[in-house]
Amino acid sequence: MRLLIMGAPGSGKGTQSRALTETLKIPAVSTGEMLRAAIAGGSETGKQAQLYINDGKLVPDGVIIDIVLHRLGRKDCENGYILDGFPRTAAQAEAMAASGMEIDAALFIDASDEVVTRRICGRRVCGCGAIYHTEFKPPRKDGVCDVCGSTLTVRDDDKPETIAERLRVYHEQTAPVIAYYREKGKLISVTSRDDVEETTKAVLDALNRG
Ligand code: AMP
Repeated sequence: MRLLIMGAPGSGKGTQSRALTETLKIPAVSTGEMLRAAIAGGSETGKQAQLYINDGKLVPDGVIIDIVLHRLGRKDCENGYILDGFPRTAAQAEAMAASGMEIDAALFIDASDEVVTRRICGRRVCGCGAIYHTEFKPPRKDGVCDVCGSTLTVRDDDKPETIAERLRVYHEQTAPVIAYYREKGKLISVTSRDDVEETTKAVLDALNRG
């Protein structure tokens, strides 16, 4: 299955794609995670990307399209993938279609600006990829990852001053991509709930995998 996960920042794309990868046994490919790894690795791409990410802007299409098409060409994606965070602009969606990559479904996790802002403010992350929320998905020990024991942090772009800009960019540039997949008859919408497992159940039901 070739699946896209779309939604506003904080709607739960990352959390749901991690849950789905276990059920569907296909890799989750997150552009945000790839970019954060490039930043942590100190590469030239990472340095460029950081400037945009910390301002709440999107990384230029040319950069991200190359990274994604290269990644999806790898062997582990042969039997499908869950693409989290791409395409986020009309140009990215068109580049994907032009490359011949047909997707089976675009899963839209629907959440209001108010809900996602609340979620982002409480988000805590770990370098191992685990994602928590101070209220809705707290770790067993405050500030410590359940999976690997590392100290949890706040993402640089989860600061209050950046969140409003990320939402503005989402409505301006990504909402049209959701309409694009709706018109193609590929869109599956699921309402995001505060309870992570409830959302996963709704997602699996929508994909007929429940
Ligand atoms: P995410 O982890 O999906 O919230 O992405 C974090 C940040 O990475 C975004 O706010 C963008 O700055 C950048 N980013 C991730 N995916 C894309 C994309 N498809 N196009 C452009 N920028 C992206």
